Amino acid sequence: MKQNLIETLLDISEQEKERLLAAIQIDAITESPYLEKESTESQEYRQFFQSLFQEILHFEDNEQQLLFEIARYVRHKYLENKGNLRGVIEITNACERSCNYCPMRIENEELGDRYNFSSEKILETAIEIKEAKIPIVFIQAGEIKATTKTVSRAIPKIRQLFENNVIILLNLGDKPKEDYTILKEAGANQYIIKFETSNWNLHKQARGYLLSDRLNRIDDLLSLGYEVGSGTIVGLKAVNANGKIEIEQTPKMLANDLLLAMRKKVHMCSASPFVPGKGTPLAQMSAGNASMTLNWMALARIMMPKVMIPSVSALNVLLGQDGQLKGLQAGANTITVNFTPPNYQDQYAIYSKQKRYKVKYEYALDIMEKAGIEPILLPNMPSRSFLLSQN
Ligand code: SF4
Repeated sequence: MKQNLIETLLDISEQEKERLLAAIQIDAITESPYLEKESTESQEYRQFFQSLFQEILHFEDNEQQLLFEIARYVRHKYLENKGNLRGVIEITNACERSCNYCPMRIENEELGDRYNFSSEKILETAIEIKEAKIPIVFIQAGEIKATTKTVSRAIPKIRQLFENNVIILLNLGDKPKEDYTILKEAGANQYIIKFETSNWNLHKQARGYLLSDRLNRIDDLLSLGYEVGSGTIVGLKAVNANGKIEIEQTPKMLANDLLLAMRKKVHMCSASPFVPGKGTPLAQMSAGNASMTLNWMALARIMMPKVMIPSVSALNVLLGQDGQLKGLQAGANTITVNFTPPNYQDQYAIYSKQKRYKVKYEYALDIMEKAGIEPILLPNMPSRSFLLSQN
């Protein structure tokens, strides 16, 4: 019976999926206050996907193993079990925003010093990524305006270092379209801009600004030719000034998150379980559901066969040393290796300074091998069209 649910999804042809998705109104997925009236068609298709996704998100035991098996089958069919390693450089922990789940929020004084790398320091670190034969240089930072200048100066030098045989992936937050243009012209290929939650009210409360702004950034990046990554935080919540939960994420919202990622046709898609971080309004909250995170990843693989899906380090915080391996076994194909110099790694408290799992190169290779995934490394990097996920 449960198996039939997955079969229903697998049976939808790509053309049919496109047709159904195109008919679903984004304002209906996000429960936006600007939705005036949802068409009957949108409602029917949205509810079809939502109810299937919600049921599958709850899979456990044998049903869950079957789900993962199918996700691995899809990965094998479309990606030949090739996987990606990305070398990340976290260039500043300064941030002007105050997302309520993030220890790097501007108000958090417990984080300590805020650091900033120069273009030279970025290049210096990129040398180590090249030496490890990793073909994706991932530059990540808190959201501050200055990163446009620093990073656009560093990119051409990194390209030169790799003799152009490199993919430059950025995660620098919201910026005006002009800045995205500057970075693209400097040589960036990909940009991660997670919506974190597709729910209008939860997004507003948790991130402090409008979901529509974030979605407009995704559109800006896609229109400039970037490969775009987005995704969700599983277990996100919003609290009021007294620390009481005001909005708690529901499985329906998680189903909508997947629907939104599909509707936006992103090239990379992630699910991270929420990890409560010190110095944030959510510090006392419980962590996200790791099992549901894995189910979401498996569903993402089945629904978007070619996208790049990372198995994130937060899985190790909740599931122990094998957490990221479980993510690969659920259909992910990407691991991010941390190349930030060790004395800065703790200060880049992406989810928690105390609990953060810092992924090492050997560990990444080891879990990829255990999962039967062959990492794409230099100098045998295939054509860009293979390495960059294709929709
Ligand atoms: S999630 Fe990003 S934008 Fe929000 S506070 Fe953290 S670093 Fe800043």
